Amino acid sequence: QAKQGGKGQACEFASGMDAALRERHDIELDLRAALSREELAIHYQPLFDIAGSITGFEALARWPHPTRGMIPPDRFIPLAEETGLIVPLGEWVLRTACSTAAKWRSDISIAVNLSPIQFQRVDLVEMVTRILSETGLDPVRLELEITESLLMEDTAKALELVRDLRNHGVRVALDDFGTGYSSLAYLHNFPFDKVKVDRSFIGKISNDPNAWTIVEAIILMSHKLNLRVTAEGIETGAQLSLLTERGCDEMQGFLLGRPMPEEEASAIARDHRIVAPA
Ligand code: C2E
Ligand code: MG
Ligand code: MG
Ligand code: MG
Repeated sequence: QAKQGGKGQACEFASGMDAALRERHDIELDLRAALSREELAIHYQPLFDIAGSITGFEALARWPHPTRGMIPPDRFIPLAEETGLIVPLGEWVLRTACSTAAKWRSDISIAVNLSPIQFQRVDLVEMVTRILSETGLDPVRLELEITESLLMEDTAKALELVRDLRNHGVRVALDDFGTGYSSLAYLHNFPFDKVKVDRSFIGKISNDPNAWTIVEAIILMSHKLNLRVTAEGIETGAQLSLLTERGCDEMQGFLLGRPMPEEEASAIARDHRIVAPA
């Protein structure tokens, strides 16, 4: 078997690469087509306050592919970012989510994720305010979720953009906190409304004392900085009670509600006051 090496293996490797590249190319073409035909979907995951009342939903992109099944965002957002498709895709998500939320009860907000690539666009604030006025959504009901990687690229410009968005009444949340560098300087310097603690931490809090200590410290520190805290990825009652006892402001996770299609979310958000099964 060892003798088989050399040329044969290199060839196999090359054709493997070829196949991977071709598949990527196919997916890129499919994504472009799906976007122009508006075949992408958004699922909405509910968020709850400490008393168990629903406060809003996070818009999460989905791609129902005709032959590959439901493709999760972790598989197509990076591709969309590399190809620049994230710009029209992100705009479509924002417009669709805002126009959906505009039909909801006025105390229910909508959170939308922004890619660093969108943040680099000079016309980001213009795009956001245009969509708000087109859809009639009150700016205070929109929360944009950004990640740290975005702040690191050009901190001065990012700061200006966040301030600008805030001045238009839009709220801004720092997503996935606890991963990456989690620089305290960002919490201190940026006028965020909210910090979302990453689910890789939340998943450990009930059996890893160090993880819990860190999350407790993030909650305490955020509150002193006048930031609200959301815990994402709550899957167990034990996690929920720890967070509730420590005064975490907002809860998100499969325990309380999975991302759901628009009709389901809208049915909840239009009328009845749903209480989480805490
Ligand atoms: P994210 O913004 O941190 O969103 C939360 C992710 O955690 C979602 O995954 C959600 O389904 C998942 N999640 C929530 N609760 C739980 C839980 O209890 N257990 C587990 N295992 N997972 C939970 P999803 O929908 O697959 O999205 C993954 C990431 O893709 C998002 O992470 C976000 O970074 C990105 N993404 C999704 N939609 C968009 C979009 O429209 N634009 C951009 N730029 N990124 C998006
Ligand atoms: Mg998010
Ligand atoms: Mg997150
Ligand atoms: Mg996350």
